Amino acid sequence: MSSVLRTGSLRARTARGVLRPAARVLGTPVRVRTDAPRIALTFDDGPVRAVTPGILDVLRDFDARATFFVLMTRARPDPGLVRELGAAGHEVGLHGADHRSLRTFTPGEVRDRTRRARDELEQITGASVTWFRPPYGEQSPARWAAVRSLGLEPVLWSATTWDWKDVPQARRVEKAIDGCSAGAILLAHDNFADEVDGVSDGPRPEVDKTDLLTRVLSGLADRGTSATTVSELLGTGRFERRISFAG
Ligand SMILES: [Zn+2]
Repeated sequence: MSSVLRTGSLRARTARGVLRPAARVLGTPVRVRTDAPRIALTFDDGPVRAVTPGILDVLRDFDARATFFVLMTRARPDPGLVRELGAAGHEVGLHGADHRSLRTFTPGEVRDRTRRARDELEQITGASVTWFRPPYGEQSPARWAAVRSLGLEPVLWSATTWDWKDVPQARRVEKAIDGCSAGAILLAHDNFADEVDGVSDGPRPEVDKTDLLTRVLSGLADRGTSATTVSELLGTGRFERRISFAG
C-alpha cells in the first residue's frame, strides 16, 4: 500500500531568482522537523463501525489524538461516525471520493472529484478540511498541483505500522516504533479499502487493529513520545518535504 518515495536533489529557481531546494517548492510533507517528543498518528480508508470506534476507545485511553483521512465512500453512509471523530478531538482529512488512484483520472477530473468530495466532507464535519492523502500515496506533478489548487495540502508519511502486511503483530509494533522518531508521521488504517471504494486489492488482512494500536502507543509512551494530529504536530515545527511522484 505504500509507494516508493523518490527524493529529488533538484533545485528550483523562484520568481525572485533565488535558488531553493526543489523539495521546498514541489515536495509533499512526510514528517515535521521538531524537537518535541511527538508524532502524528494517521488513519486511512475509514471510518467503519466495525473498527473505528475501537480505535477511538484506545486513543482516549492513551489521551492521544490522530488525523483520520476518510474516504467519502465510507463517510457518506455514516456521517455520524465522522462527526464522532471531531467530537473526540481528532482531525478529519480527506483520502478521496473513493480509493481509486489519482492516476485513474485526468488532472481536471482529479480537481473536480476532489473538490466535490472536500465540499461534501466539510458539510458533514462543519469544519474546513486542510489535509489530503492520495490513495496509495500515488500522485503525479499535474495531479498534485490539481489538489493543491483547491487549497488542500497532500500529506504522505515517514513511518508505517505494516497493518496491511501478513507479518506477525510483534513485527508491526517494532516497525512502527522504530520509525517514530520525533516529528514522524505514522501511517495506519482503520479499514481496508475494497470494492465499496472502487478497488480490489486482494483479501482483507487479518489484523487486530485495537491490539496493534494499544501496543504501539504503549511502546511510544515508554519512550516518552505522544501521538497527536498532523496540525498539532506542525504547531511544534515545520514540514519536511520530499518530492514524491509515482503513478
Ligand atoms: Zn488508503
